[in-house]
Amino acid sequence: MLNIDLHCHSDVSDGVLPPAEAVARAAANGVHVLALTDHDDVAGIAAARHAADAIGLTLIPGVEISVSWEGHTVHIVGLRIDPAHSVLSEGLHEIRLGRIERARRMGADLARAGIGGAYEGACACAANKQMVGRTHFARWLVAQGHAPDMRNAFRRFLTRGNPGYVEHEWTTLENAVGWIRASGGVAVIAHPGRYALDARALHRLLDAFRALGGEGIEVITGSHHPSEYGKFADLARAFGLKASRGADFHAPGEGVDIGRLPALPHYCQALWQGWPELQPHLSLSPS
Ligand code: AMP
Ligand code: MN
Ligand code: MN
Ligand code: MN
Repeated sequence: MLNIDLHCHSDVSDGVLPPAEAVARAAANGVHVLALTDHDDVAGIAAARHAADAIGLTLIPGVEISVSWEGHTVHIVGLRIDPAHSVLSEGLHEIRLGRIERARRMGADLARAGIGGAYEGACACAANKQMVGRTHFARWLVAQGHAPDMRNAFRRFLTRGNPGYVEHEWTTLENAVGWIRASGGVAVIAHPGRYALDARALHRLLDAFRALGGEGIEVITGSHHPSEYGKFADLARAFGLKASRGADFHAPGEGVDIGRLPALPHYCQALWQGWPELQPHLSLSPS
């Protein structure tokens, strides 16, 4: 069976494994085709590709771009991108500058709630000082004993209405899809079940995304409960989007492991159908 996982993080964003170790873990888990999709940065792709080439795993260069849409944060995954493309890399650079400024405001907000040193602490938890995010704050809060675990850290801090949450304007949906397409990639809506959108807003998002040239939607993801797979498979079909599959792996023991997901429902049109990168694996059928 062909095991394809198109959503995964390394320590270039908020994962814990360096890119080469994420690739090795994917191979050990039986993954044939892996996309590295770090948040707002492509700095891990060269090392991941090097490791993948050495062990015969197919690496798809990817990225997960943070977007603000109608007041919601939405994530757009770009796959088969050219990480060296200037339009994409300049756009991602701007987002990372915004992240650093946001992280300072998060630190100040936590300080007002009596928790000092959080910005410095989160930066110390981030291997890539350019890509500091809420996960790094959460790991620091847990390490300092302010929260028993990550889930609790997000519930009590870092989420809307709680200390450490600050509003932030990410890039637009149009920019994210445009940069991905400019670099030769395909755009995919990440984990649609995670957004607090009612049905009408979700349909508006899918229409807008499709009109901008977006092509895919995650149906099978570590962020969806199995009871949601059918709903998003149906939406993919209704909106003319191709279905994707990815664990959204961040760390061993956190969430779903790389490649450890069910297959796409049989009636889905797979995003990867016709990709030349799959050629070496075509004697295997998709898992
Ligand atoms: P950021 O892009 O800095 O706002 O961070 C978003 C990241 O935080 C997501 O990609 C997840 O990795 C993580 N995250 C968000 N919500 C939660 C949660 N409730 N529990 C654990 N991790 C979360
Ligand atoms: Mn993340
Ligand atoms: Mn995401
Ligand atoms: Mn992700």
